Amino acid sequence: MSLLPWLALAGAVGGGLWFARARRRASTWTCRKCAKARVLLDEDTEDPYLSEAQRREEQLGAVDYQVWWCASCEDGVVVRRAPFSSRAVVCKECRSRAAKEKAYTVVPATKDRGGELRVELDCERCGHAQRFSRYTPRAS
Ligand SMILES: [Zn+2]
Ligand SMILES: [Zn+2]
Repeated sequence: MSLLPWLALAGAVGGGLWFARARRRASTWTCRKCAKARVLLDEDTEDPYLSEAQRREEQLGAVDYQVWWCASCEDGVVVRRAPFSSRAVVCKECRSRAAKEKAYTVVPATKDRGGELRVELDCERCGHAQRFSRYTPRAS
């Protein structure tokens, strides 16, 4: 997969603002292979990394997919925006139980290797947000 079309597109979409936004979001997920920050592609740039079936699902509005791109590895990870699990948790900032933790499957666990979940935590009361990865054990 070549980086060039992606860079051209990114440039076209619009300079400084785009990069500022990308950088801010990038701090939320690091690549497992090279440990550099991944960038969340927006709806306009993610399409080439989705399969035809995934694009169709998105058009139907059934699910939303996100693509996290690592420029060093030229590797995109597709996250299906249908939560694997969702639960109320205590917010670290305001100590209320208004925080929701949603986990999305990035790599499903198999018998041979563990899986990876993308966890998103949002507090409805104080707005505290956290994004991190969680690794799951091998499927038994
Ligand atoms: Zn990487
Ligand atoms: Zn809170």
